Amino acid sequence: MPTSKSPIWHPYTQHALQDEMTRIVRGDGAYLHTADGRRIIDAISSWWVITHGHCHPHVVNAIKEQAGKLNQIIFAGYTHDPAEELAAQLLKLAPRGLDHVFFSDSGSTSVEVALKMALGYWHNIGKQRIRIIVMQHSYHGDTVGGMSVGARGLFNAAYGPLLFDVTSIPFPRRGQEQATLDALESVCRDEIPAAFIVEPLVLGAGGMLMYEAWVLKEMKRICEASEVLFIADEVMTGWGRTGTLFACEQADVSPDIVCYSKGITGGALPLAVTLCRADIFDAHYSKDRTRTFFHSSSYTANPVACAAAKANLDLWQVPATSQRVISLAAMQEQAIESFRADSRFENVRRTGTITALDLKTRDAGYLAGIGPKLQTFFKDRNLLLRPLGNTIYVMPPYCVTMADLDEIYAGIRDAADALA
Ligand SMILES: *Cc1c(COP(=O)(O)O)cnc(C)c1O
Repeated sequence: MPTSKSPIWHPYTQHALQDEMTRIVRGDGAYLHTADGRRIIDAISSWWVITHGHCHPHVVNAIKEQAGKLNQIIFAGYTHDPAEELAAQLLKLAPRGLDHVFFSDSGSTSVEVALKMALGYWHNIGKQRIRIIVMQHSYHGDTVGGMSVGARGLFNAAYGPLLFDVTSIPFPRRGQEQATLDALESVCRDEIPAAFIVEPLVLGAGGMLMYEAWVLKEMKRICEASEVLFIADEVMTGWGRTGTLFACEQADVSPDIVCYSKGITGGALPLAVTLCRADIFDAHYSKDRTRTFFHSSSYTANPVACAAAKANLDLWQVPATSQRVISLAAMQEQAIESFRADSRFENVRRTGTITALDLKTRDAGYLAGIGPKLQTFFKDRNLLLRPLGNTIYVMPPYCVTMADLDEIYAGIRDAADALA
């Protein structure tokens, strides 16, 4: 019998097991303040979106100013300064070779747009290329297209019949990278696919699985040789997370299509973009209206969200921002160092500002009983951490201090003492 006190249906929440939600009234920097007066350290950037900190004044002011001027306008046939300026600045920062910006409102939608761009490209130039290649353990969002190109399993078992077929290549585990590259090469040769979609350097929801830049570079080279469109899903990895503004920079890779969202507004408002090469746009450019790119969201390029994103880009113009990311990466390395010799953990790893480690347990996997137990333990310690099964990861806003990190990692150590 449902006994929920609130009519709200929360995401990724089993209400029969967890019906008590922590009520947050205010956020500042790396902290969240609860209705009952506690201060929580946000160790996962509120699901990977907050970069410079909660309620960053520069972003907040930009939102306030734009909200009073123009807060929504149809984006077909109309345009506005925040979108125009943002698009121009994005193309300056993004890997070279990208020429057009399509706006949407979430990571999932930006992936749908990327897939539709790729399929639309091949369709409009008259080639039968429809198959998508994906990487094992990937996550690209929860819409039907996003689920189709993501790992099949628990999260989408009920929706299997809706999902389209893809070809999966193995995750490049350390020492086994060649198997991934060989698989990609043979799929590109034998199946003549439309595109390969991949999360560069770090697979987020799949368990914070990390691989090296040279593998990304090789995968791009293989795709290029077969003219397979290379789609980089930087929804999580973008905006400094991996130590550089975008993960692709580390491999010197220019994707054909790239998706950015999450940190694009510093985490203040929902917005996403899909950037593409000129020839993908050009394949849709015609006096023939059947070649139109038939996609829109009601709030495409919402002016307030664009203003927030522009404020985020301003912050990235200040050298202190990337210096901050570099020093956070060093602090994270220092904080996680002692766990490498701790026999209760394995796969202790870091890419840029993200660390992850697996608590050794008999029941691994997302549904492992240890996951909710850890989450409750951390909640009682006023830490916002949300392990993926037995994988604990720390992805804090860049304003977090060493003292905050000490508290986070002390919590992780104590959790292992209490629960392992
Ligand atoms: C979060 C995420 C998405 C989906 O973004 P939403 O804004 O939640 O729809 C897609 N791809 C990756 C890599 C993500 O981490």
